[in-house]
Amino acid sequence: MESAPCKYVFVTGGVSSSLGKGIISASLAKLLQARGLRVTIQKLDPYINVDPGTLNPYEHGECYVTDDGAETDLDLGHYERFLNTPTSQANNVTTGRIYLDVIMRERQGAYLGKTVQVVPHITDEIKRRITLLGNTGNYDIVITEIGGTVGDIESLPYIEAVRQMKYELGNTNCIVIHLTLVPFLKSARELKTKPTQHSVKELLEEGVQPDILVCRTEYPLSPEVRRKVAQFCNVAPEAVIESIDADSIYNVPLLMYKENLDRIVLSRLHLETTREPDLSSWIRFVEKIHNPHYRVRIGLVGKYVELPDAYKSIRESFIHAGAANDCQVEVISIHSEHVNEANVAQQLGQLDGILVAPGFGHRGVEGKITAVRYAREYQVPFFGICLGMQCAAIEFARNVLGLAGAHSTEMNPDTPHPVIDMMEEQKKIVVKGGTMRLGAYECELRKPSKVFEAYGVERIRERHRHRYEFNNKYLSMFEQAGMIASGINPNSGLVEVMEFIHHPWFIGVQYHPELKSTVDNPHPLFIRFVAMAMAYRQTKEAEVASPASAAGIPL
Ligand code: GLN
Repeated sequence: MESAPCKYVFVTGGVSSSLGKGIISASLAKLLQARGLRVTIQKLDPYINVDPGTLNPYEHGECYVTDDGAETDLDLGHYERFLNTPTSQANNVTTGRIYLDVIMRERQGAYLGKTVQVVPHITDEIKRRITLLGNTGNYDIVITEIGGTVGDIESLPYIEAVRQMKYELGNTNCIVIHLTLVPFLKSARELKTKPTQHSVKELLEEGVQPDILVCRTEYPLSPEVRRKVAQFCNVAPEAVIESIDADSIYNVPLLMYKENLDRIVLSRLHLETTREPDLSSWIRFVEKIHNPHYRVRIGLVGKYVELPDAYKSIRESFIHAGAANDCQVEVISIHSEHVNEANVAQQLGQLDGILVAPGFGHRGVEGKITAVRYAREYQVPFFGICLGMQCAAIEFARNVLGLAGAHSTEMNPDTPHPVIDMMEEQKKIVVKGGTMRLGAYECELRKPSKVFEAYGVERIRERHRHRYEFNNKYLSMFEQAGMIASGINPNSGLVEVMEFIHHPWFIGVQYHPELKSTVDNPHPLFIRFVAMAMAYRQTKEAEVASPASAAGIPL
């Protein structure tokens, strides 16, 4: 039997950026998935970079990497964390990517004799990218989030593509949810609907009538406000959805359920709504994060700490792992540039665990290395991710193996001891975009080891995004001193995990485990790290309670 054709839901944004289109899209997808539908989410980004891989985290937050090695927008992280299904290159498309494809085709002569234009060539390519997912037969519904704000010059071709798709497929196969802001004006003590009206007008000028309005607000929308929005924006009153500020993004699906967002979407798409969503495990998770029994403080040592989005996936992984341990993880941001030998004890002394973050370039590296040394010497649970693992190797080389000046050739190309170095294949690469070791790679875990204990399996697949690697010429020296390679890529022999055996929990991973942690599937290494931090805290508290019993415990 042929399955029904895929339906499309577009999510646009008006009035202001940062209203949370990604979270609304992910929440709607979660509700539809919980009703048994097969859903995926796609993000279209109107900027000209071909992908966000070349963007500084200060520009656009973290760069999220998929299994197939695409460097993508951080919203894809939310999609995976909410839906627990992997995304791919097809789930994130930028204007740069669209133009690159069209221009390459033009150079190959595909449009020979024709003038290549925004309409129809660019809009056709946008539509092709949208329906690519729908045509796989894997989904009942594709939710496409259009980045940017309606009215921006760069989002015009996308809105035009949506207009055409609505016209071609019909309003029961293709709907638009417009996310707007209903601000509260203190002086008038009133919620104001005018910005919403204006942004809908803007959409109408571009030929698109939204079907549903989701209104971000600090206060509940009264029936009167809802009626007013409905009347002036040509939508049914029940299609005006309140999206009140939530204390956690994980509450949003539950709030949207209360507001009937999924039900309205299904009715507009003429899809049956026989089965209510099964949200029981989600509700349990949300209860866990709101009522934890334990608490730990984990230091996140990085150089982009001013910007919470720069380490988005790590922060979210701690929420998932915290819930799994019935524990609230307080993540303390520590700027690696401000850590040095003189102040390290004061900066890190109160922590129950230390995570040294991924990163690029020289800035802040010495602070990270100092933080590693503290964690190693004082037996504080330690987790190093990507550059964090590399810093652990450098620290060990310098301070345990006595290799003065050991470094990564990324930071010091002339180091006498390049314990972290570039692979031969990487040395030939001169272009920057999409050329790192990217995407999922196999890794074999050593038995017994702490990393094996955490995963419980011998073969894992984790995602990578880096150019430099542990230099295997130094491996036997490291292993003899207790820093073992407990995870190895079976095909290349590259070291993927290092752990220090004379320590309660000291693990560095060359990959990015944070990219695979979801609500349904918290990452085993984060779960273990939080558990070890809890144990460390308990021991410390016991020492304070009865200092005598602690005598003899080495610090
Ligand atoms: N800069 C390091 C490398 O390229 C680490 C990258 C990272 O932490 N993602 O190898």
